Amino acid sequence: MITYSETTASPGIDWPYQVPAALVQRLVDVQAILALENGTADMQAEFQARAFTDLVRHARQVSPWWRARLAALGDPPELAHLSRLPVLTRTELRAQCETEGALPVPSSHGRVVERSTSGSSGIPLRFHMAEFANRMVGHHYLADHVRHGRDLRMPRAALSTRPAPHPGREHIESPAQPWMGDGPVYSRRMNQFTLRENAQWLARVNPASVAVTPVMLDGMLDEFESGLAAPTALTQVLTLGDTVTPALRERTRRLLGASIRDRYSCEEIGPIALQCPHDTSDTPAYHVTVSNAILEVVDEHLQPCAPGQTGRLLMTGLHHWATPVIRYDIGDEAAMRPRCHCGAQGPVLTQLPGRRMFLIKAPSGERRYVLVRAKDWLAVAPVREHRMTQRTPEDILVELVLDRPLAASEHEAVLSLLRTHVGPEFRFEVRQVAQIAVAAGAKRRDVISLV
Ligand SMILES: [Zn+2]
Repeated sequence: MITYSETTASPGIDWPYQVPAALVQRLVDVQAILALENGTADMQAEFQARAFTDLVRHARQVSPWWRARLAALGDPPELAHLSRLPVLTRTELRAQCETEGALPVPSSHGRVVERSTSGSSGIPLRFHMAEFANRMVGHHYLADHVRHGRDLRMPRAALSTRPAPHPGREHIESPAQPWMGDGPVYSRRMNQFTLRENAQWLARVNPASVAVTPVMLDGMLDEFESGLAAPTALTQVLTLGDTVTPALRERTRRLLGASIRDRYSCEEIGPIALQCPHDTSDTPAYHVTVSNAILEVVDEHLQPCAPGQTGRLLMTGLHHWATPVIRYDIGDEAAMRPRCHCGAQGPVLTQLPGRRMFLIKAPSGERRYVLVRAKDWLAVAPVREHRMTQRTPEDILVELVLDRPLAASEHEAVLSLLRTHVGPEFRFEVRQVAQIAVAAGAKRRDVISLV
């Protein structure tokens, strides 16, 4: 065993001379995440038990809301008693956020920022995240590059709604980071362009990998299939945010010569399960991110499902102390097995669920990706839930749930928001409803196109 004396350690975490602390931290985090994933089941269980106990102690100390909710855990709180706790719904989490705001966090967790999401439920939520939790989320995705053996020196591309608008520019380029062995990353705000423009851009940039939503990918594959020149250098397509079907995997292989590597996540926790790097079958297993979240799969009586049996997913985030998320039900279903066929010792998810987002079809026939973010809704009215249903090529029904009647000025602001985010060519019927009806057993979606 090697031991390091005090005299050989640098002050702080900075590596001497050139490497900034944030990059050193990234290297350390990535290695630790991978070490835990590749470690023994005992090592993972011990890590999770300690992280869970710390989280619960913190939440009890600073939050009356959580103190009452976590009482059943006893003292000291033990992960083994997790199933004694009630399931956390999105509505309940929203109540905690509205009542208590951001929970105070230790100085080591850094600054706290506000985030918002509609998730797959169509219920807008404002929550809070500290720098530490944000770092852990980001570094799990970076560790995923290593897991999947990506050569980061090659150009990468990302199509999403996240980048700030970049009018007049086809993408935002993040410079290469040679200390990390990284080449350039081209990020593009996909909803700023048509499907065809995005497909043309992808072929022009011709990256080694691209991160994209399954719905946008499917639309671009239509373009390539109908004769548009496809990119030639792609080896991996990184998906996030909706269902990846076996058919989509097959089309991606056939039309792009690349394999899909899917990531399952939620905004409140970050990555929850990441596709096994050794499984590129049409129905792959997903390694649970044991260093970021604890997952349970339960039946309708909240009893644990047998391995391989599909049930409700309950998730607990280990690093999110500003807005804790414990036994959270976001409405998704999956099955879990205790280990992966590849030899990894941690649990894996199979039969991953369907998630949100559809393409709206414009009267011109072009399909368009639509996303109205929680913060956009909340900027115009105190919307609690929302759903858009396209009923004809020109007509979209917008159902909204609010605690009080929508004022005339807010109604106008909602229409203006929809014309901007969905399109000026549609007729919108805004209807305030007591609740948004979902057929029994159906998956709730916030954008549905029936044409
Ligand atoms: Zn595996």
